[in-house]
Amino acid sequence: MDADALLGGLDDQQRRAVTSEAAPLAILAGAGAGKTRVLTRRIAWRAATGSVDPRRVLAVTFTRKAAGELRARLAQLDVQPAVTAGTIHALALAQLRARYTEQRRDFPALLERKARLLVPLTGRRGADARVAASELAGEIEWAKARGIRPDGYTAAVRAAGRNPPRDDMAAVYGRYEREKQRRGLVDFDDLLWSCAEVLETDPEFAAAQRWRFRALFVDEFQDISPAQLRLVRAWLGDRTDLCVVGDADQAIYGFGGADPSFLTDFARHFPTAEVLHLGRNYRSTPQIVDTAEAVLRDAGGARPPRVGVRASGPRPTVTEYDSEEDEARRVAARLQEARTAERRWSDLAVLYRTNAQSAAFESALSAVGIPFRVRGAGSFLDRPEVRAALDRLRDAARDAPGRSFAEHLVDLDVVDAAAGGERSEHGDALVRLGREYLDAEPGSGSLDGFLAFLTAALRDDAPIDEDAVELLTFHRAKGLEFHTVFVTGLERGLVPISYADTPPERAEERRLLYVALSRAEQALHCSWARSRTFGLRTARRSPSPWLEPIGSALRGDATDVAARPAPAGVRAARARLVAAAGEPTVAGAALFAALRDWRRGLARASGVPAYVIFPDSTLRAVAESRPATAEDLLALPGVGPVKAARHGDAVLQLVRSHT
Ligand code: ATP
Ligand code: MG
Repeated sequence: MDADALLGGLDDQQRRAVTSEAAPLAILAGAGAGKTRVLTRRIAWRAATGSVDPRRVLAVTFTRKAAGELRARLAQLDVQPAVTAGTIHALALAQLRARYTEQRRDFPALLERKARLLVPLTGRRGADARVAASELAGEIEWAKARGIRPDGYTAAVRAAGRNPPRDDMAAVYGRYEREKQRRGLVDFDDLLWSCAEVLETDPEFAAAQRWRFRALFVDEFQDISPAQLRLVRAWLGDRTDLCVVGDADQAIYGFGGADPSFLTDFARHFPTAEVLHLGRNYRSTPQIVDTAEAVLRDAGGARPPRVGVRASGPRPTVTEYDSEEDEARRVAARLQEARTAERRWSDLAVLYRTNAQSAAFESALSAVGIPFRVRGAGSFLDRPEVRAALDRLRDAARDAPGRSFAEHLVDLDVVDAAAGGERSEHGDALVRLGREYLDAEPGSGSLDGFLAFLTAALRDDAPIDEDAVELLTFHRAKGLEFHTVFVTGLERGLVPISYADTPPERAEERRLLYVALSRAEQALHCSWARSRTFGLRTARRSPSPWLEPIGSALRGDATDVAARPAPAGVRAARARLVAAAGEPTVAGAALFAALRDWRRGLARASGVPAYVIFPDSTLRAVAESRPATAEDLLALPGVGPVKAARHGDAVLQLVRSHT
């Protein structure tokens, strides 16, 4: 795709961020300002202008889903061959394994849950021991994210003004490390440490990795920990080709050891860096931007204005329910109303603060037959069809040890495709993961390597793209967006969470709510329940203190945000956008839905994931700009000559039939 076309659909600030020659470069902006879009376009633009070979690009994203989306979007922008994109843990694991294989050494097994080793160290039994172990695990994770070893723990905790969960925490941490080593295991944090250490101490390995990766990109940089930054620096060596994007208002992993000052003080950490800002929100209606902003403004202090440039939408709602079951039942009913001919289930999401809250929604949605997905690896790897496929791979690897993993994967793909008329989405996902794994660990793929990769890559991600309502914690919703979002359980004790008792902890909880609210594009529904059951105990509940600022923002919006006089700058920006993109029309929405139906049918018939045909962004661009000729079509993001030749007629036909 030619370089100029890649600058279409960007505003001036975004275009500057895409084309800036600065290195390092940091791009700071609020939720929905197009950071991730700019990151993708920048990679594509640099590839198109020859400033970087896509094979030399390493993109670190927060989740595997984000990495997958990035790869798909780049493929749509005709960036070939594929860049390497993944979560930092999966990338570190792949590099370490490759090195072990080279040295003909076996890679240690991955310890998935620290609690497994910690339970015996708690001195307690049953559920008590599990709770205590997970608290200890959290503390060890914090220490390891900060690069603190057992012998430095006590001093570090004192310096950080932290309350350790136990007086002998340093000793417990030491025993955990020794036990892990004795059993020949490594944990997720070790992957980061070891990979950085090898790069720092083995010049040959470092040179090979640095040759392979020349340009580094990191999304969600506000949540990077010192251990992760050390690895990024080790990948970079003495070079400067690093581009990061992030938003300090969305820093939500301080409890886990992340340090947003790496983003906010970027120029101090990387002295030759340029820092750019983006000021508009393209995701959400002005009503939703106002509601989310109100929560942050309520903390006091000056904030730069956030300009919501989308067309006006319905006012967000706040609803009080009798109980959590009541909340779940009513949310299920509203989900059914929200699902229309133009709205897929996966355009809808239910968000909550803690994992435990998903249970009520799972049963309420099941009761009325709404398909849903709870993010998390466990459920995927436990699926019977996934287990069966992995068993087949194991058998095949045993029977034909000479064949490479790549060959076994092709067999699996073929067998799976032939097995049933409609191949399982889970089977598809597994094959796709296999290819991702081979991208990350080329040449040296093995079944063991793939199994380890699955564990690391699926840590908190669901790999399937089926049409289902997403049930997500606030944390896991980061970076995602949905047409309609239900933000539930807005009660004291949950939002903010009861154990957040210091001012920085409460500030992090506030940002977490901001992340949740800012996921919504068109419709936002907030709710809380007057009673909630924890174990055997039912408790009276009171509303979250942050429903106050939300309520005030909504009352201020008694008529309609768009009807209120907006500041001149906001008005001008909104007018420009509306002029550029056109108001979304009813016909546009219907065309978009029709394009999606067409794509779904084609995806099923040809056995490829839908996004491979065209991503949503392309279909949206088609619906908005209504191309009349093949040439018009080629001007849209995500349409290259091959796709235009293959699907052009069908798409243009659909456009003509929706006038
Ligand atoms: P978050 O902080 O939540 O991760 P973000 O800054 O990464 O948000 P994106 O996800 O990149 O934001 O963009 C938000 C939405 O706005 C996306 O749907 C994106 O495609 C769209 N968008 C971004 N820039 C523009 C633009 N210039 N014109 C139209 N749509 C845009
Ligand atoms: Mg983003």
